[in-house]
Amino acid sequence: MTLRLREVIGQDRTVDALRRAIAGNRVAHAYLFEGINGCGRRTTALALVASLFCRQLVAGEACGICPSCKKLVAGNHPDLHLLQPLPDKRDISIEQVRELQQMLALRPFEAPRKACLIEPAERMSTGAANSLLKTLEEPPGHGLLILLTNQADLLLPTVRSRCQHLRFAPLDTPDLTALLQQQGMDPAVAATVAPLAQGSLDEAYNLNGDEARAERQTVLEALHLARHQQAATLFDTSERLASGRDETLELFDIILSLLRDMLLLHTTPAVRLTNDFLAEKLRVEGERFPPANLIEALELALETRRAVQGNVNPKLALECFLLRYSRLRIA
Ligand SMILES: [Zn+2]
Repeated sequence: MTLRLREVIGQDRTVDALRRAIAGNRVAHAYLFEGINGCGRRTTALALVASLFCRQLVAGEACGICPSCKKLVAGNHPDLHLLQPLPDKRDISIEQVRELQQMLALRPFEAPRKACLIEPAERMSTGAANSLLKTLEEPPGHGLLILLTNQADLLLPTVRSRCQHLRFAPLDTPDLTALLQQQGMDPAVAATVAPLAQGSLDEAYNLNGDEARAERQTVLEALHLARHQQAATLFDTSERLASGRDETLELFDIILSLLRDMLLLHTTPAVRLTNDFLAEKLRVEGERFPPANLIEALELALETRRAVQGNVNPKLALECFLLRYSRLRIA
């Protein structure tokens, strides 16, 4: 893990803004870092804190080796606080915020100021968020607060408006591949999981297993079989593939990426597929459709995904999709 901002991968614009703020002594007292999990928000936050805590900056960046830097890496620096939901709770409570405020009011132990990471910030209860407002506006002792969220619009507008809002993009595939390799993942494995991970390091690690790949293969096989099945069997298939809303949404993400790959094989065969490990099976499945019908299938999947995101019963939506998919004309 790096404590140097310029070594953070894939977030150049955000990181540049922070480095300029540090160089110009204009670091805000409250930041809101918005981006998907696993895109580098926490690494950036730690590097920002390190640049304020480090005792021997090198070219304006944390040295990585002084006692302060070492404690930050080890997660036991007494002036950095983490505010997150307690293990058995969903939300960050008002009591937790009050404790934090008491801590921030004390003099820092070692660092020039205290810092706090709040993650995930959208899990603050309304009471907790409201009681934090004053601290966000004027943290005691020049404290620094960094709120991490994957969806800023879930926060109270009064919280958002008191923070400097920085947006983190999902990592692109080459950056993600490089990062995975840097962290010791086998290059071949990194090249397989990175395109599937939707820009998230966390997701890439989730996918780094036979299980995730087996799931994609199962979905492709289910699509293949759907075209030869009776309605009753289709309903069994649907039951086997997914149940709840979230699970169904994930399933449609997989279906969409498989259909996109089939279409790519028709139109730009030389391109690297998202599901490259299934290339041969995708080619066979895709060849049974004229491209126009594949586009129709994609639109159908997109439309169904949107409906599931809304208020439609996910089970019915999936059944209906499989039924309509099974009736698309075959080449
Ligand atoms: Zn240092």
